[in-house]
Amino acid sequence: MSKKYDVIVIGAGPAGYVAAIRCAQLGLKTACIDNWLDEAGKPSLGGTCLNAGCMPSKALLESSELFHRAQHEFAEHGLEIRNVKMNIGQMQKRKAGIVASLTSGVATLFKSNGIEAIHGKGCLEGPGKVKVTPPKGKASTLQADKIIIAAGSVPAEMSIAPFDGDRIVDSTGALDFDTVPGKLGIIGAGIIGLELGSVWARLGSEVTLLETQDALLPMVDKQIAREAGKQFRQQGLNILLGARVLKATTQAKGVKVEYVENEDKKSLTFDKLIVAVGRRPATDGLFSKDSGLELDDKGFIAVNERYRTNLPDVYAVGDVIGGAMLAHKGSEEGVAVAEIIAGQSGHVNYDTVPSVIYTAPEIAWVGKTEDQASRQGFSVKTGSFPFAASGRAKALQAAQGMVKLVVDADTDEVIGAHMIGPYVSELIAEIVLGMEFKASAEDIARTMHAHPTLSEVVHEAALAVDNRAIHFANRRK
Ligand code: FAD
Ligand code: NAD
Repeated sequence: MSKKYDVIVIGAGPAGYVAAIRCAQLGLKTACIDNWLDEAGKPSLGGTCLNAGCMPSKALLESSELFHRAQHEFAEHGLEIRNVKMNIGQMQKRKAGIVASLTSGVATLFKSNGIEAIHGKGCLEGPGKVKVTPPKGKASTLQADKIIIAAGSVPAEMSIAPFDGDRIVDSTGALDFDTVPGKLGIIGAGIIGLELGSVWARLGSEVTLLETQDALLPMVDKQIAREAGKQFRQQGLNILLGARVLKATTQAKGVKVEYVENEDKKSLTFDKLIVAVGRRPATDGLFSKDSGLELDDKGFIAVNERYRTNLPDVYAVGDVIGGAMLAHKGSEEGVAVAEIIAGQSGHVNYDTVPSVIYTAPEIAWVGKTEDQASRQGFSVKTGSFPFAASGRAKALQAAQGMVKLVVDADTDEVIGAHMIGPYVSELIAEIVLGMEFKASAEDIARTMHAHPTLSEVVHEAALAVDNRAIHFANRRK
């Protein structure tokens, strides 16, 4: 017999599990269907983010950064550690422990909020109806007044370099290597390519990234992207821009990648190849043909500004609807859709979605780049300040990079911020909050920042908008 809920959520990633919790908080009887299985074959909530994305990648970024620092940077502190050894098994065990504690944390949150977690593949049959197929046993159809689809995304495949789970892997495979590949190729120098390339380069791989575009990180402010390219190359990442991959062929001892660069046909052979050319919506088997659910021209579920699909009482949020494929963007949509369903006015401000790349140095941005603002007709002024002048950054042995603010010259409102440097993943939050409150550069310039902190660099960048940064020596000639 089919059960009746107020809301069924399909997918327990950061969009779906947050939507389910907010629905439960608002008094709605909620179930969440998810089909993720961990390596031991057990259901594991949290979606891509917790199981194979944000969290495992950050665990390995931290471990590999410590390994690199112990070898190359500790001596400057007077700390002489000889024969630093890497135990990759322990590194992977630590990563798995972090994932397990976070995914079981979601299960605990579901329990405490009275949300029913249902394991299986959900298929939308039409408004109000979802068929659930567990890995073993019989399928059943569940009913709900409202359905929220939060099925997320999966790695985009390339027919010229098909995943084989061994030599040619996606990001999930690349998080699970149990030995360090000698030569590692990566197709795509996007966020995953740079983060996972950094992990394995720090652990000893010779890393080559093949990127089809002519510029690195085209979505990032040009000045910051230039600095990033310089720093990554200094760290030994071999980044080939304008490289069009023709074919990857698995051989007995590696994988051969043929590509075209500057109209020349070339080839390289790697021990492992990661394909990281974006992600696509996870819509396979998600809805029956008869349901009539509409997708957009790129295959994402089409929704209006209130996350409604073309079907009555069927909503969708997170990666599966497109836009920035970021956990926090999906979570905010999850909160908004729950509030909309409960009759409130949920809303997401897409002008203030922060983005972070967790390399060393980190890269973070929000709002418009200088070029975008100019193209959109703003009269633009900017203020930049380097970490080289920050006492805290020097003490941290990380005095590289800068903070740059993009400001509307007519109103002094901050309309963008772009950063490369230590912990900018944390510093960007000040600007996100400022932009939510329509802060002017003057508001930030007149806000007291603790000394010595990295946030003083944000403060000085705000002062620099009017050419009055205090710790900047060669401003006037
Ligand atoms: P997902 O997290 O993909 O969750 C969807 C869930 O639905 C999954 O559990 C899936 O198994 C399940 N599902 C799908 N179809 C069905 C079905 N038919 N029935 C039942 N269940 C189904 N983002 C950040 O913001 N910060 C980061 O640092 C970051 N790092 C990343 C690192 C990597 C290596 C990767 C791959 C991604 C990273 N991301 C990061 C992106 C982030 O993981 C995604 O944007 C986010 O997980 C999307 O959330 P979601 O809830 O929409 O979908
Ligand atoms: P991406 O879009 O960031 O980068 C893909 C890169 O591959 C692009 O630079 C693109 O030009 C390149 N590319 C595409 N086709 C190619 C081809 N045929 N040959 C060579 N290069 C090609 O995608 P991703 O790195 O796969 O990451 C997927 C998503 O996951 C992103 O949207 C990102 O938002 C999310 N993610 C976020 C974080 C984070 O927030 N720190 C970390 C990892 C992933």
